[in-house]
Amino acid sequence: MSPIANLADADVLIIGAGIAGLTAARALEAAGFSVHVLDKGRGVGGRVATRRLENTFADHGAPCFRLDDPEVLSLWQEPLSRLAFLPAPLALDPRAYRCPEGAHRLPKVLASNLKIHLSVPVQSLTYQGNFWCAESPELRAKARALIVTAPLPQAAALFAPSDSDLAQRLEAHARTVCYRPQWTFFVDWKDGAPALPNGVFDFAEGALGLAIVQTNPLLWIVHASVAWTCEHLEEEAAFASQACHSALQKRYPEYHMRSVHAHRWRYARTEQPVADAFLAWSDRPQLLFAGDFCLASSVMGAARSGLAAARALIRQGFPT
Ligand SMILES: Cc1cc2nc3c(=O)[nH]c(=O)nc-3n(C[C@H](O)[C@H](O)[C@H](O)COP(=O)(O)OP(=O)(O)OC[C@H]3O[C@@H](n4cnc5c(N)ncnc54)[C@H](O)[C@@H]3O)c2cc1C
Repeated sequence: MSPIANLADADVLIIGAGIAGLTAARALEAAGFSVHVLDKGRGVGGRVATRRLENTFADHGAPCFRLDDPEVLSLWQEPLSRLAFLPAPLALDPRAYRCPEGAHRLPKVLASNLKIHLSVPVQSLTYQGNFWCAESPELRAKARALIVTAPLPQAAALFAPSDSDLAQRLEAHARTVCYRPQWTFFVDWKDGAPALPNGVFDFAEGALGLAIVQTNPLLWIVHASVAWTCEHLEEEAAFASQACHSALQKRYPEYHMRSVHAHRWRYARTEQPVADAFLAWSDRPQLLFAGDFCLASSVMGAARSGLAAARALIRQGFPT
């Protein structure tokens, strides 16, 4: 087994390279702090995710987002200037935009020039001698401040072995915000897809959910309804894909599908934000929790929370 590598100490450690973590990291770096971002995924973006498929792509997380917070936009100005945007389908959100090259382009440009360590599944977070320490099977990192942007149930699990009191506070918040899961499907139509008004279609009869057409007219992204997802959350992906396939076949018997793939989001969105810009407790120094559970369950909500957490650390500085 290879030895655990130690990262050089940074001022701030951020768990999660989703929109909240990337926004916090950009704000802190701009203010002169050294930052390491750790993420368990193979790419950045968290729930702003794009899957590459043969000759095309599928946004199986957030397909579009608003760009309407002036303070976030000011921080993102340079990376955003490298992206093209199109209006999202009207029926989806008339005030939102999409990236024609895939939603993942947004986190990709936000991540440029940051110190991001991918495929690092953090397993524990502990406070030792004025430092916050993160440990994963292959990497150890420590810093004087820590921002955790993982969904609250996952954040709680990281503290549970060393700080059960904090884990319980996080679990209590997780119950209040009420996470909703979601099965998402990519449907590849063989010779042509059924036409959808506005590129979006709400399934009647409560069947599966919402279908969204992307730039490729043969590809649909289908968001299962919360009710259907909750009922089938623990099923295998193969079962979920088959159910989606059958529902579409029944509805559109004259059309044929090449394939249907399923992706399960266990913590897709929250119902009720905590309404504070970030979470922190005075008896846990230099530790903040940010993400879309704070202000709004959206890309902009996550960004605003990440920015607020970074600004709080910048204001308070570090004891020397
Ligand atoms: C299917 C779907 C559709 C959506 N549609 C829209 C939409 O149309 N418009 C919109 O604005 N929003 C939409 N959203 C919501 C939006 O995607 C989220 O609100 C936002 O991306 C959350 O960002 P975040 O940074 O708070 O969290 P995340 O994106 O979840 O980032 C958290 C990161 O933490 C990492 N992490 C977790 N645990 C660990 C660990 N132990 N070690 C290391 N890393 C860890 C994860 O890998 C992840 O990258 C949608 C979400 C889903 C799932």
